Amino acid sequence: AHLDRIVAVDPAVHAFLHVDADGALAAAHRADEDRAAGRVSSPLAGVPLALKDVLTTTDMPTTCGSKMLEGWVPPYDATVTRRLREAGVVILGKTNMDEFAMGSSTENSAYGPTRNPWDLERIPGGSGGGSSAALAAFEAPLAIGTDTGGSIRQPGAVTGTVGVKPTYGGVSRYGLVAFSSSLDQPGPCARTVLDAALLHEVIAGHDPMDSTSIAQPVPPVVAAAREGAEGDLRGVRVGVVREFSGEGYQPGVQRAFEAAVQQLSGLGAEVVEVSCPHFTYALPAYYLIAPSECSSNLARFDAMRYGLRVGDDGTRSAEEVMSLTREAGFGPEVKRRIMLGTYALSAGYYDAYYGQAQKVRTLVTRDFTAAFEQVDVLVSPTTPTTAFRIGERVDDPMAMYLADLCTIPANLAGNAAMSVPCGLSDEDGLPVGLQIMAPAMADDRLYRVGAAYE
Ligand code: GLN
Repeated sequence: AHLDRIVAVDPAVHAFLHVDADGALAAAHRADEDRAAGRVSSPLAGVPLALKDVLTTTDMPTTCGSKMLEGWVPPYDATVTRRLREAGVVILGKTNMDEFAMGSSTENSAYGPTRNPWDLERIPGGSGGGSSAALAAFEAPLAIGTDTGGSIRQPGAVTGTVGVKPTYGGVSRYGLVAFSSSLDQPGPCARTVLDAALLHEVIAGHDPMDSTSIAQPVPPVVAAAREGAEGDLRGVRVGVVREFSGEGYQPGVQRAFEAAVQQLSGLGAEVVEVSCPHFTYALPAYYLIAPSECSSNLARFDAMRYGLRVGDDGTRSAEEVMSLTREAGFGPEVKRRIMLGTYALSAGYYDAYYGQAQKVRTLVTRDFTAAFEQVDVLVSPTTPTTAFRIGERVDDPMAMYLADLCTIPANLAGNAAMSVPCGLSDEDGLPVGLQIMAPAMADDRLYRVGAAYE
């Protein structure tokens, strides 16, 4: 049924870069056989899923939305991919994304934009717009995204779906093509909080193949979602982030958020306002740290080891081939980030830019630590605005970056955060997201509060 739905709607939505109908049906039949033989390993056995095209798969290409990796079929599965397969999850295909996960609208994909199922003239968010649009268009009930600076939560918010950035180190990055290694984190996308929790438990847990993977038990997110669904938040302290309101926030988003806060309080939560003074500086710090790490990580695309190779006709040096390949293979946003990052890391500027940004990162982390001494979770709108129009911000990188204003602090600090649907804006009728943030390895709190609210 999902494959039929993809055939019917994906020409308009363009959530998928690759659909593996034969592979999906074979996996579904295996799940049926396992079930008949009493070998059901997970509650998600046989459930279809859309996988962001930044996680490696041995049976499908992994392009990262880039011409650089067009047609590249990796020699190994990401740990997330492997765990999905072991749980009997049916992988339908790979979803569209901003090139190498750099963007907030999926317009930076080398394969054309994904459209928001709520309004095909609008963006589905990014970088994981394909995964969230697939959920909103009922092309898949579950999806995987990756969140370096909001790329799970912001697409979730603008498509009216649930998106979770687990604690950094909670889900393995092995086989996730690196953008900014100290921030990248795979996580679950779904239409309900409980569905996201079930998926979270399948993909999370320690992995010796990722040196930053946390060797601790997975937080009990499914139990927390079930507890939350009972709708009782008495004893839970919720902090409203003072800095994430006012100028730049659409009134329709603000009103939907205020109604959500009222609802949390109606469920018994104790709501207080909390100040996190350095959150305002998180965005500029991120746009130095992420490009710095990107300039280093993307050096691996050297025309020798992976994917594209241009101009290798026996007359050119390796350096010329490398240069021609990178010129042809990377899009404008990726080039902008590589240049910014290389500049920020260069001798003489390192202390002023990269070093300074790392100090701000510490201050943001301290704001969280202080806040979580007073409250159990923090809340804010996920994004300052609803989905903007395709094309509206492509020529204005600063406007594009502002979509990440509220999501980035949790990436810098490495703690857990979720976006849950928060009704529709009374200005334009488009979905609004409520962001819930919790301390590192307290992901279960997100699910308890998210499920109660939902
Ligand atoms: N908008 C962020 C960026 O462009 C999204 C990054 C991400 O989470 N992959 O860097």
